[in-house]
Amino acid sequence: MNRGWLDLAGAVEALDGVELDAALVAGIEAEAPALRDGTNFYTPTFKSYATSELAGCGKSAWPAVSITGGDCALACDHCKAKILEPMIPARTPEDLWRVVNAQIEGGAQGMLLTGGSNHRNEVEYDAYYPVVRRIKDRFPAFKIALHTALVDGGIARRMEDAGIDAAMMDVIGAQDTISQVYHLKRSVADFERSLECLAATSMKCVPHIVIGLHYGRMLGEWEALEIVARHKPAALVLVVVMPFYAPAQRPFVTPDARQVGRFFLDARRRLPDTPLLLGCARPAGRVKAEIDSYAVMAGLNGIAHPADGVVELAVRLGREVRVTPACCSIAVGNEVMALERESGIRVDLQDLIAEQRRRRRGGALAGIPVVAA
Ligand code: SF4
Repeated sequence: MNRGWLDLAGAVEALDGVELDAALVAGIEAEAPALRDGTNFYTPTFKSYATSELAGCGKSAWPAVSITGGDCALACDHCKAKILEPMIPARTPEDLWRVVNAQIEGGAQGMLLTGGSNHRNEVEYDAYYPVVRRIKDRFPAFKIALHTALVDGGIARRMEDAGIDAAMMDVIGAQDTISQVYHLKRSVADFERSLECLAATSMKCVPHIVIGLHYGRMLGEWEALEIVARHKPAALVLVVVMPFYAPAQRPFVTPDARQVGRFFLDARRRLPDTPLLLGCARPAGRVKAEIDSYAVMAGLNGIAHPADGVVELAVRLGREVRVTPACCSIAVGNEVMALERESGIRVDLQDLIAEQRRRRRGGALAGIPVVAA
């Protein structure tokens, strides 16, 4: 068996203790010429980040705003609305106008707009469309990515007419997951129909697939991938379930990194020309290092908050590496909106190498090609 990539991964000190599946790595390596050869990492952890024009973790440049604050009627088993809690609340259209003006004054270039769902997995944005339109008319350069949840054709057109730039929704491919995890009386076909309606608009359509959504196990992911592939999205965001809030009687297992890796490869094969982004949500620790290693190998285009050693792995694999000092929401904004964000993308190569050396207690990257965007 060709152990080329395994040996390269083994040379990365920060990946010590990470166990990659030899057969899977060899399989990915065999397909390498057909896979993307560049990876953009989004991370606030490099020292050079401190000197970037993007201060803090980038939240002020791309804030997340919830029209329901921390409330959600659906309370899915993996989330229980906790994802909404840290977001900026804007519970009325007037609040949204005020929040957006304040954020723009603070340097925001775009936002993620979301909210808790009703019992039909719809976010009730109706009252907000006029103010979204007003925001886009007043600040046309300010980008708005909307978590749409489920929609019909009329709702999708209202989102488009309001000026939403990107429409994001989770695509679920298993009825059992919809019924059991989301407690929802909707069908897989409803999810596909929603994606179809969004894809029929001029909005950038950016579906998400939550890997391991069925209590940590893979179930509907491949069907979700087929659904996504049928509607040619602008990008696909993959995240791995982080069930911090799962109820004790319905626990989640940690997703198997090898299965996640296989899914990355399948997604890359199925959508060879679509930007694939690994969002920042995934389990921490060794499994994250394994997942991220497979993500790099499989040729995902963007990886938010990579595990230690994974940037080095990418350069050792000969990949063209870019590092954007930013948090995941910027990553989504950048990949999805193709924002020309010179201040956010430019990273000093020497700083990057110095940081890698410091982290690896004196190792060298000499001769390994690194490309700073
Ligand atoms: S609908 Fe969204 S916000 Fe509400 S619990 Fe489910 S995943 Fe969390």
